[in-house]
Amino acid sequence: MGLFFKDIKSLEDLFVHGLEDLYYAENQIVKSLPKMIENAHDAELKRGLQQHLRETENQIKRLQQVFKLNDRQASGTKCPAIDGILREGNDLMGEIEGDDVLNVGIVAAAQAVEHYEITRYGALIAWARELGRNSSVPLLQANLKEEKAADQKLTAIAEQRVNPKSEGRKKAASAPRPRKSARARRSKATMPLRSGARNRKPAPRRKATRRSRA
Ligand code: FE
Ligand code: ZN
Ligand code: FE
Ligand code: FE
Repeated sequence: MGLFFKDIKSLEDLFVHGLEDLYYAENQIVKSLPKMIENAHDAELKRGLQQHLRETENQIKRLQQVFKLNDRQASGTKCPAIDGILREGNDLMGEIEGDDVLNVGIVAAAQAVEHYEITRYGALIAWARELGRNSSVPLLQANLKEEKAADQKLTAIAEQRVNPKSEGRKKAASAPRPRKSARARRSKATMPLRSGARNRKPAPRRKATRRSRA
């Protein structure tokens, strides 16, 4: 990308840029997935991520075919979006203590990646069709289909396994309170607050700071 001239002048250029962007993104994802797999402490989650790593390697091959179909050398262009998403996931994993909550964080981080990919493949497929590059469409669609399936699988793992377990442990630690007394306690706590709010005088307005200070 040039600072003094714009290098995308047509939909064709935008398509190629998008292809290079995704090629870069998929390669970064391949590098990042092993650490997520290593940190995952749920067998199903680990397996799902491992499967998607293999799929991602294959997606890179499909993108190489798309480059070839368009008489281009396969090459990547730096994608700041995927760099940020992957860095955020990596940072988050470093901040979480406890395997169960870590699993929840990994699912969310992985889904952020899938959603990014889904938007980009969606756009690329639309542009390929618009440009009449029909032979590229099925390859891109195959990748999109895998991203969507990966996203859905992650949702299922979260809902059925990972999320309930992370919350279940916390519940088991403290005995559940009877519903009625909990409600009574809550209403007692809120009532004086409510009447207090009703009688409360409006807080005096803060004097506006002088314009000249700005
Ligand atoms: Fe992918
Ligand atoms: Zn990008
Ligand atoms: Fe880009
Ligand atoms: Fe993916």
